[in-house]
Amino acid sequence: MNKLDEQFLVVSNRLPLVVDQDEDGWQIKPASGGLVTALEPIMSRVNGLWIGWLGSSEQAPFDELFARFAATHGYRLAAVPLTDEDVELYYRGFANETLWPLFHDLLGRCHFDLTTWLHYQKVNDLFAEVVAEQADDGQLIWVHDYQLALVGHLLRQRGLKNRLAFYLHIPFPSFDLLRRLPWKKELLQGLLSYDLLGFQTLRDRRNFVACVREMFPHVRADIRRRVTLLDLGERQVSVGNFPISIDFEEFNQGAAVKEVEEAAWYLHEHYQGRQLLLGVDRLDYTKGIPDRFLAFERALEKYPELRRQATLIQVVVPSRTLVPDYQNLKETLDQIVGRINARFNEHGWVPIHYLYRSLDRTQLLAHYRSCEIALISPLRDGMNLVAKEYCAASVEEKGVLILSEFAGAAAQLGEHALLVNPYDIEGTADAIWQAYSMTEEERHQRMRQLRAEVRRNNVYRWVEQFLDAVQPRTEQLYWHCTEMRREGDE
Ligand code: UDP
Repeated sequence: MNKLDEQFLVVSNRLPLVVDQDEDGWQIKPASGGLVTALEPIMSRVNGLWIGWLGSSEQAPFDELFARFAATHGYRLAAVPLTDEDVELYYRGFANETLWPLFHDLLGRCHFDLTTWLHYQKVNDLFAEVVAEQADDGQLIWVHDYQLALVGHLLRQRGLKNRLAFYLHIPFPSFDLLRRLPWKKELLQGLLSYDLLGFQTLRDRRNFVACVREMFPHVRADIRRRVTLLDLGERQVSVGNFPISIDFEEFNQGAAVKEVEEAAWYLHEHYQGRQLLLGVDRLDYTKGIPDRFLAFERALEKYPELRRQATLIQVVVPSRTLVPDYQNLKETLDQIVGRINARFNEHGWVPIHYLYRSLDRTQLLAHYRSCEIALISPLRDGMNLVAKEYCAASVEEKGVLILSEFAGAAAQLGEHALLVNPYDIEGTADAIWQAYSMTEEERHQRMRQLRAEVRRNNVYRWVEQFLDAVQPRTEQLYWHCTEMRREGDE
């Protein structure tokens, strides 16, 4: 089969790349992150095209950089030009101040604003315009995430007949929540224009189907299959759940290298044999970081044995720094950490080490590998890849995973993690104590099972399962995915 026969077009809000200028001039390289890791191998095998916003207004020579990128990486890039106003209203506004909190069950943080909604439609249309210009007949078009829910609908309006697929990386809310959105009907209609819709968990998929049934009672749903079929009369929409994952071996092998082993050793030397609890999150109110601090404080009160023996290392990666809610959260965290540390610190022991920055790869892996407990307690999370990365990097199989029941990852990892309700401070404090005092044997037993789960259901299986559900199946893409997954399994 000709390499160009079944090109593959991926659309996401941001193009997954980093643009930099050094002494050799402008450089362009793929960004790190789960989606790129998962899609890049297949994109280069089938000569794909990735469309998205550049994410900055940098004045780089993009035509030349994109040509160089295509030559070295085997797939092409195309940019959607957005103005500062677009970014303000569509991205910071409707996407991050309406859809993000609503879909994460945090109604109190939602802003419903007609101007931002209109702009969301306008920018989705801009994306659709670029996609329509670039797409060839027969290509599969795979759109990603909540910023671009309407692109499929706007492509259909332009007469495109391609197979259209959509994957939602964040949770999908219940109808009780979604009904608050003044434009829920348009949003659902937009989503129903795709041929395949993918969600993270069964709960998200069921929520979506329930919302469709409430708003469009004539739609019949066949829910007996692995993928729900919604019958809209003139056409059908497939709806499935496909939990996103990580490249297990990348973390497993990465954590085993000497450099990481040494960094892990130094980390423990620095903390003098204490048990380390680890939190790693973007600065986001969905991650439940203040509640986590309070739970740790409660654990120190209730179980004094933990004092001087346990330290919580909390890494917070700066994010959305221009949105006021995020600025306030940063201040709140500073205050809580200051108060707890002032209350408990003694003999050189400080209960919470709070790092407001990202870690480089070696340090991140060293933290995953050597911290005895991961404390991952989002109020709501589409998946939470940190939970999976922690397991994959726990090469000595001695880590304990404390995981929020409201993280998508709980559906797969809940059986062998210690599940907590992050709103339940007392219960989370008890789980911290349970993890701290868990026997070596139980730790090993649980972590072995967790690692087996992440190894089996890795990110290559995610792509494979998603593409397998596209009807009619994209044979060549599916074949490449299966090959890649087999290589990953070996
Ligand atoms: N991460 C990173 N540098 C850091 C800390 C975290 O690159 O210093 C990465 C981490 O490896 C993970 C991602 O950030 O892949 C966070 O993904 P997750 O699904 O947990 O949460 P999200 O930020 O997507 O809500």
